[in-house]
Amino acid sequence: MKERSFWCDTVAPFSPAPRELPARVDVAVVGGGYTGLAAARELARRGAHVAVLEARTMGWGASSRNGGMVLTGLKAGAGQLVKRFGLETARALFCASLDAIAYVEQVVAEEGIACDFRRCGHIELAYKPGHFAGFVREAELLQTHFRHPVRLVDKAHLHEEIESDLYHGGLLDEASAGLNPAQYAVGLAAAAERAGAWLFEHTQVTHLARGAAGSGFDVTTTRGRLHADQVVIATNGYTTRLVPWLQRRVIPIGSYIIATAPLAPELARRLSPHRRMMFDSKNFLYYFRLSADNRMIFGGRAGFVPPNAETVRESAAILRRGLLEVYPQLKEVAIEYAWGGTLGFTFDLLPHAGATGDGLHYALGCGGHGVALLSYLGACVARRIAGQPVENPFFSLPFPTAPASLYNGNPWFLPLAGLYYRLLDAIG
Ligand SMILES: Cc1cc2nc3c(=O)[nH]c(=O)nc-3n(C[C@H](O)[C@H](O)[C@H](O)COP(=O)(O)OP(=O)(O)OC[C@H]3O[C@@H](n4cnc5c(N)ncnc54)[C@H](O)[C@@H]3O)c2cc1C
Repeated sequence: MKERSFWCDTVAPFSPAPRELPARVDVAVVGGGYTGLAAARELARRGAHVAVLEARTMGWGASSRNGGMVLTGLKAGAGQLVKRFGLETARALFCASLDAIAYVEQVVAEEGIACDFRRCGHIELAYKPGHFAGFVREAELLQTHFRHPVRLVDKAHLHEEIESDLYHGGLLDEASAGLNPAQYAVGLAAAAERAGAWLFEHTQVTHLARGAAGSGFDVTTTRGRLHADQVVIATNGYTTRLVPWLQRRVIPIGSYIIATAPLAPELARRLSPHRRMMFDSKNFLYYFRLSADNRMIFGGRAGFVPPNAETVRESAAILRRGLLEVYPQLKEVAIEYAWGGTLGFTFDLLPHAGATGDGLHYALGCGGHGVALLSYLGACVARRIAGQPVENPFFSLPFPTAPASLYNGNPWFLPLAGLYYRLLDAIG
C-alpha cells in the first residue's frame, strides 16, 4: 500500500518558472492551494504583480488530497442555515455554493484543465431510518423555499444508485460535480502562472509585519524578504501562528482516504451506476466515489487529528472496515493507497472571508466543501482587492473563536469531540 495521495500519481508535478524572489509585489499570497491559486489568477488577470508563496509545493495541502467532490450547499444543511440566519440569508449562503460550482466549471473550461470535471450529481445516504425523515424535510425546504431541485430516493429504489444494503434512502442533487483534485490544483497553478502570477515553492512565510509608515507589509520568507502592498492568507487547515487572529478561529481536522485497486468496469457500474459523489449522514461520515480508472475512493474522519504516518496506517485499517460495511462485495479487493490531509473547520462550521484588523485578506473554513467554495472565495477576495464590488454573504458573517480564549490554535479538544460525535452516531 502506498502511503500518499492516489491523485498525485495521476498528474505530472507542477514546476513553476525559476525566478528570484522580487523585492516588492502588489500582492503576496501565502499558500498555494485552490484559495491562493484562484486569488492569484484573478489578480494577475487584472494586471497586479502577484507572488504566491508556498511552504511546500503547489497544491501540496488539502488541495491535492481531497475527495474531489464539488458539492452544492455548505457543511451546515439548509434547515440549520434557515434556523440560524433566517430564510433570506440562508438562501444567499446556499446560492453562493451554486455560484462556486459554476465558477470552478468556468475556470476548468476557460483554462482547458483536464481534471475529469463532470456534473455527475451527489447523493447523501441515510445511515439511520430517522435520517431519511430529515432528508424529506430538507428536500421540501430546498425545493419550495430555495427553488433548488433535489430528489428523494427511498430504500426500495436505492439500488438504482448504489449496490449496498446499508442505507435507508438518499437525497439526490444533480447539480453537484466531481473532479480529480490534484489535476485541478496543477491546472490552476499553471493557469495562475499563465495569467502572470509568480509562483514560489519551498518558500515558507515566517513573519509578517506592517511596512514602514503603515504602508503594506514586510514579508519574511525562508528564501528572503519582500514588500507587498496587500497580503492574502490562504493557508486554511495549515494556518499557523503566522496570523494568531486566524489561528484562533480555524480548527485543523484530519481526514483520511483509501483507494482500492481499479475495479472491473462491470463491478464499478453495479457499485455506483451513475458514478455519483456519495456521502452518508453520520457525524463520522464516510464519503466515497469512483475515480476515472474505477478505483473506489473511500474517505472518512477515521480520527480527528491531522495526519502522520501512524494515523494514516491506523485510518487505512478503520476505513477498510467502513468500506466493507458499505460494500461487502469488495472483500478481496486490494487497497493500493492511503493518505490523509488537514481540513479547516471554524467554530460556526461556515466558510469565512474578509480582512483581519491588520488588513490581511483571507478566505478559509468550509470543512469538506472547500473545492468549490474556496476556489470561489479566493477569487472573490481577489476581486475585492482589485476594488470590485462583491455581493457575498461570507464577507459579512461574524467570525467567532472559542469563548473565554479557550483556543489558541492547539486543538486539545479534538479527542473529546471525536468521542462525543461517535456517541451521537451510536445513539442518534
Ligand atoms: C482528506 C480530505 C478530503 C476532502 N474532501 C473534500 C471534498 O471531497 N470536497 C470538498 O469540497 N472539499 C474537500 N476537502 C476540503 C478541501 O480539500 C479544502 O477545503 C481545500 O483544498 C482548501 O484549499 P486551500 O487552498 O484553502 O488550502 P490547502 O490546499 O490546504 O493549502 C494551504 C497551503 O498553505 C501552505 N502554507 C501554510 N502555511 C504557510 C506559510 N507560512 N507559508 C507558505 N505556505 C504555507 C501549505 O503548505 C498548504 O499547501 C477535503 C480535505 C481533505 C483533507
